Amino acid sequence: MPELPEVETVVRGLRKTVLDKTIAKVIVDAPVKSIVVSESFKSKSFEAILKNKTIKQINRRGKNILIELSGDLTLWVHLKMTGHFYYKDVSTEKEKHDLITFQFKKPDSNFKLIFNDYRRFGRNRLYYSNEVMEQKGLKELGPEPLEISSDDFVTIVQSKNRMIKPALLDQSLIAGIGNIYADEALYASRIHPKRLFSSLSKKKLVELHEHIQRILSMAIDNMGSSVDTYTGVNGETGKFQNYLKAYGNEGGACERCNKIIVREKIGSRSAHYCPKCQKI
Ligand SMILES: [Zn+2]
Repeated sequence: MPELPEVETVVRGLRKTVLDKTIAKVIVDAPVKSIVVSESFKSKSFEAILKNKTIKQINRRGKNILIELSGDLTLWVHLKMTGHFYYKDVSTEKEKHDLITFQFKKPDSNFKLIFNDYRRFGRNRLYYSNEVMEQKGLKELGPEPLEISSDDFVTIVQSKNRMIKPALLDQSLIAGIGNIYADEALYASRIHPKRLFSSLSKKKLVELHEHIQRILSMAIDNMGSSVDTYTGVNGETGKFQNYLKAYGNEGGACERCNKIIVREKIGSRSAHYCPKCQKI
């Protein structure tokens, strides 16, 4: 699933391509569950509401994309497993999993924006801007890991009697970290994924905060990790998968101690770690 660096890369790609463009037409081939329209629109269709709206701002919150449009609207997109935005020449043939097509008014009518989603867990939700942040999935999000100070991070997590790996994936604690970057940050900090937050010293938590910020920033600079189907809006793959040290490296050697990296199910997800460097 795209995590903070991948979603940030998509947001930056969207800003470069569709910002300030006005939607001429929306074509929907998505299954019903892929699109949610607020009840405030009184059963007006997604296509009808978006027609003639201009894209004003594109932001990220955790793993969510927030596209602000004229008319005080926000299109809230979650890519989930395999959701993609692609910016393409309007003459490009439709592909099998192209679920939503946005066409633009002149002088931008030569391109289209596609929402493509093979697994179809992604969501495009349309709300008035003043109601969107009150929705479940956004309202409970914890702070942004690249914005939270070291002191605030320590204060938030120190009291938590929770296993660190599943807790890092909890979007209401910190928003945007998923399996890849949790494993990488714990590896860099030499923390076993089963440790409890409350069992770690303040020094260790400060170190974890530093590694989270360093790794996420590096991943953004490298346009994310393409470990599955993830690509940017021009179809380009990320490069950070080449720098992953723990995630996906089970059976490989730890670059610090040469011990074999293991993969173990912790909570509902697989954790990758070095059993020698990351002692419980
Ligand atoms: Zn090691």
